[in-house]
Amino acid sequence: MNLATDRANLWHPYASAVKPPPVLDAATADGAWIVLDDGTRLIDGISSWWCAAYGHACPTVVQAIREQAAKLPHVMFAGLTHEPAIRLAERLNLVMPRGLNRYFYADSGSIAVECAMKMAIQYQAATGHPGRRRIAVLKGGYHGDTVGAMSVSDPGGMHRIFRGLLPEQFFADRPSCRFDAPWDEASFAPMESLLEEHAGEIAAVIAEPVFQGANAMWFYHPEYLRKLREACDRHGVLLIFDEIATGFGRTGRTFASDYAGVLPDIMTVGKALTAGSVSLAVAAASDRVAEPIDVFLHGPTFMANPIACAAAAASVELFLSRDWGAETARIERRLKTALAPCRACPNVKDVRVLGAVGVLEVERIPDPETTRKIALETGVWLRPYDRFVYTMPPFITDDAGIDRIAEAMRALADAV
Ligand code: PMP
Repeated sequence: MNLATDRANLWHPYASAVKPPPVLDAATADGAWIVLDDGTRLIDGISSWWCAAYGHACPTVVQAIREQAAKLPHVMFAGLTHEPAIRLAERLNLVMPRGLNRYFYADSGSIAVECAMKMAIQYQAATGHPGRRRIAVLKGGYHGDTVGAMSVSDPGGMHRIFRGLLPEQFFADRPSCRFDAPWDEASFAPMESLLEEHAGEIAAVIAEPVFQGANAMWFYHPEYLRKLREACDRHGVLLIFDEIATGFGRTGRTFASDYAGVLPDIMTVGKALTAGSVSLAVAAASDRVAEPIDVFLHGPTFMANPIACAAAAASVELFLSRDWGAETARIERRLKTALAPCRACPNVKDVRVLGAVGVLEVERIPDPETTRKIALETGVWLRPYDRFVYTMPPFITDDAGIDRIAEAMRALADAV
């Protein structure tokens, strides 16, 4: 593999083009494993940014991609439809919460979030509330890297630099009540007063239910979502749940919002939707949202790409055929036991586990070179960032693999 070309020409995520951090060269991947060019095998402890939930290169998904690529790789979706798009809708009907049955296929998670926000604003305009044009958000949230999605993500570093480009939204303090603590009513107060004060300008609230991922790695109490649903209804505000990271079993329920038994008006899913094979996401709306919207103003070139739809349909079938509940419960038990001793590490501030997600909140993370060395020494691929050393392993990772991941997490936490 010519890594000189990689260094000379390629821009990696969240990295400098001219002073790039070290990279490992992935040649193949199968099951829970990434195989490097020299044959080194690493457990993918973060399911390649949380999408390869059932492991890499799932045979039925790969087969569906092959067959579809040979038959109809792409066709525009305006004025035309195709069998894989319909097949995917039929599979989604089996898994999406009842009532969220109007599917807009988007190219990526960020685009699905953009679509969800646009749906909310068009819905409000169509139902006589053109002044409701902004979105209310939880601090600590993350919804993507496109402009609209950034505007509803935590107003940390990125907001400062892009000020002027980003639309200004309303932020409430993040839900402070932990998932496993007794419910604390005060935890909802910031959102309650935000809605009371500004509801007339707000089209929708967007939230990652129960698990705030990329920007907080924080599990909060499901009661917050019941309060949120009630408050949104009271104020005529739509509720968007972003289940892109949490959907398809990651937190131990099909959707994290199932912990609260709360139905949003719009839900976004992505990542595990194609079992980590190709990019596709969905913004799913209820009839109540879809009906007043005369013409939804969005239509990307590769919308409903047939290869992606075929991959997603096969992936949802895989999800439905697996005992993922038992798999994530096993991983949760194992991670809780294996990560408990990390509480004693001086660098570790908190240890949190829910479903197939394990988090060490740390004071400091190791530098990229140390991270790379620890990956090669432990045989586990993890990518600490900000204040987090975390894992979201493929559900198929066996107990020995989970123990190994926990050891690697400890090594990373101890390495500073
Ligand atoms: N929403 C959430 C909750 C996410 O975790 C992510 C990706 N980490 C996104 C949206 C954006 O998805 P994508 O990277 O596919 O654009």
